[in-house]
Amino acid sequence: MASDKDMKLIEDGTRLDGRDFDELRDISIKAGVLKRADGSAYLEWGKNKIMAAVYGPREMHPRHAQETTKAVVRARYNMAAFSVPDRKRPGPDRRSIEISKLVSEALEKVVFTEKYPRSVIDVFVEVLQASAGTRCGGLTAASVALADAGIPMSDLVASCASGKIEGQVVLDLGKNEDNYGQADVPVGYIPRTGEICLLQMDGNLTEEEYEEAMDMTIDACKEIYEIQKEALKEKYSTELEEANLDEVIKEA
Ligand code: UDP
Repeated sequence: MASDKDMKLIEDGTRLDGRDFDELRDISIKAGVLKRADGSAYLEWGKNKIMAAVYGPREMHPRHAQETTKAVVRARYNMAAFSVPDRKRPGPDRRSIEISKLVSEALEKVVFTEKYPRSVIDVFVEVLQASAGTRCGGLTAASVALADAGIPMSDLVASCASGKIEGQVVLDLGKNEDNYGQADVPVGYIPRTGEICLLQMDGNLTEEEYEEAMDMTIDACKEIYEIQKEALKEKYSTELEEANLDEVIKEA
């Protein structure tokens, strides 16, 4: 988190992009967009554009990486070279390895991994365009892709961040807010149980600010959860309509 004292992030009580302090950027999700994957989802969140694809469960190779009692959820987060203003050097780096690990661990909390011993469930998160909050967007899209793949899960994971800019706690930091703000707290939330499966903090918050940020984030995650469920309903109701149409044509 860079600090730039001259960077104004709040003017006349509103944020640079006109949002209220507790307002999300626009989010849209489409499930089942890739034919070759077992499950997939495409997400747009503000200027972020993220694709998630799921393959498996399938036998884990190499064998020494198998778990005898459960499946391994193996997420790989990747930023395309063209996803950011300064070309991103292709290939894994410390940041992408960290995000892959936390996405894997968050998703493991909801997948019934014990049903698939010795297997792997591969989850690919490809960031096509990045504008802050890509780990939250990636996790949100990945859990829709897992559900689209028919993987048994206890719930979806909804994810969002909040943080602090110019001493003010705000929801869902945009690019400049992320770069020049004072704190960023990404959270993964399991709505059905209220559990937190991802929590990180970059920067500093007081205890009160932290409470305020968490309240905002959890409310936002509940909103995001509805968008995730809508995306799945949209795909499966369309498929059902098409199936019914085929039946009608056959009978005619
Ligand atoms: N970013 C970038 N180049 C990089 C990594 C990140 O331009 O190599 C930008 C990108 O827009 C990203 C933002 O910085 O979304 C914030 O990155 P951070 O590590 O905080 O992760 P994120 O907020 O995307 O989860």
